[in-house]
Amino acid sequence: MSSSQKTAILSVYNKTGLLDLANGLAQQGIRLLASGGTAKLIREAGIKVEDVSSITHAPEMLAGRVKTLHPAVHAGILARDLESDEKDLAEQNIDKVDYVVCNLYPFKDTIAKINVTIAEAVEEIDIGGVTLLRAAAKNHSRVAILSDPADYPSFLEELRKGDREVSEASRKLYALKAFEHTTDYDAAIAEFFRKRYAGDGVQQLTLRYGANPHQKPAQAFVESGKIPFKVLSGSPGYINLLDALNSWPLVKELKESLNLPAAASFKHVSPAGAAVGLDDSPLACAYARARGADRMSSFGDWIALSDEVDTVTAKIIGREVSDGVIAPSYSPEATLFFRLILTMSLQASKPANPDYRLPPPALIDLTVATIALKYTQSNSVCYAKNGQIVGLGAGQQSRIHCTRLAGDKADNWWFRQHPRVLDIKWKKGTKRPDKSNAIDLFVSGLVPKKVEGNPEREQYESAFEEVPIDFTPEERKEWMDQCTDVSASSDAFFPFTDNVFRAHASGVKYIAAPGGSVMDQAVHEAADKCGMVFVHQETRLFHH
Ligand code: 5GP
Repeated sequence: MSSSQKTAILSVYNKTGLLDLANGLAQQGIRLLASGGTAKLIREAGIKVEDVSSITHAPEMLAGRVKTLHPAVHAGILARDLESDEKDLAEQNIDKVDYVVCNLYPFKDTIAKINVTIAEAVEEIDIGGVTLLRAAAKNHSRVAILSDPADYPSFLEELRKGDREVSEASRKLYALKAFEHTTDYDAAIAEFFRKRYAGDGVQQLTLRYGANPHQKPAQAFVESGKIPFKVLSGSPGYINLLDALNSWPLVKELKESLNLPAAASFKHVSPAGAAVGLDDSPLACAYARARGADRMSSFGDWIALSDEVDTVTAKIIGREVSDGVIAPSYSPEATLFFRLILTMSLQASKPANPDYRLPPPALIDLTVATIALKYTQSNSVCYAKNGQIVGLGAGQQSRIHCTRLAGDKADNWWFRQHPRVLDIKWKKGTKRPDKSNAIDLFVSGLVPKKVEGNPEREQYESAFEEVPIDFTPEERKEWMDQCTDVSASSDAFFPFTDNVFRAHASGVKYIAAPGGSVMDQAVHEAADKCGMVFVHQETRLFHH
């Protein structure tokens, strides 16, 4: 049984449960020291308590700015059970403190008030309380720090049962809570001043909303320096921001790897398409291909472009429905075409060295596919051809489902190049998204049945001047056989050979994946049998 005098310091803004706690402590013979308002309340309840000034021998000053900030308090809290610390305390005639009870000024409540001034907020920045919490939490090997009134009853119970001792496990949890209390408090202070002093768009950016429109307020910020992009027009939401921060490094990395202008078309933080440009208007070509990879998914996309946006590119974008664009810069005419524009510059890591034994087009395609996967929600598999994504399967829990999804999209892309699609006679006035939807049904073999009173069929037919004739299975096979030299990349190993066979069915000749599966050898053998080149790349590319 510990016989020495135990001491508690109490200094709380939120006085909930205070009197029960003080009473419980006093009943166990614990000496109570408290700051002004806290001491007053305890005293008025008829419980014996001393002012902190009885040990500091200094009055509270500066209208409460200095109350407990004194070596007599903090040496008492921070002292360890070491001979040297005991000696220091004895020389200064300071007693050890065993328990600290503290919660902080209501900074958050104050700044939540409309039209709060900086002076009002400043007065709510607690100094001594944070120091009490931090000192006691630091020395939790000896001191118990209570920062949450909800803990008072169990704390008293433990004191009673343990003869005024608090177990190590409880002290650890109390210390953690105290650190979290001060962290939360400091974050609120930093946020307040970031908004006031760093200005919107410099270190902090107010977002239109969070992931969904009802999630307001929302913001993005960096803890130091400036946010690495600038909003030129419009107001991004959280998902726009995620798209921007994922799509920009993708195009930057493609450009750095292949030295070709690159574009990406993102939806829900994964690329629906990405491509490099090869023609006369390379950036415009890159975006047209990125958008063309999966036109349906790209509806309302987020666009990333590796180079300054020129008028040709802007005109192509202007014809589509898109949410926003991120690019290093914009020609003055180009800006006229956009509703929401961000510019930013970010550093992206360099990709691993590619395997130069591949023919250059395959090298480009595998690079495009693999870099795209780095910025795609996993699991993911990507097919590419002619420097553009042609099929991307993202966010599936099973690898074969990614491979199938990407393969089905690649087949769909290939069928969209079929002369029968290119020759479709559209009814005048059919909108671009309606054309995309009708083509998608047509090429994927999901044409609604021609039966009396089928509204889906009626809608389908209404898009055409002349309804195209469905593909027969033979026609499908014949056209599919002409799709060759496709590349495919996987963000992690193939656990079964089925992935290789599925890719082969979509004309894949070059396939890249990390190793590590017990099935690696079987997968490589399957690729050999299909006449494919298997590139074993070193790095798994999971991304979330
Ligand atoms: P009381 O109501 O006891 O006068 O004050 C309690 C509040 O004062 C607590 O929220 C505590 O965090 C805070 N506090 C304790 N010591 C100091 C100090 O030295 N300076 C300042 N600014 N606040 C303190």
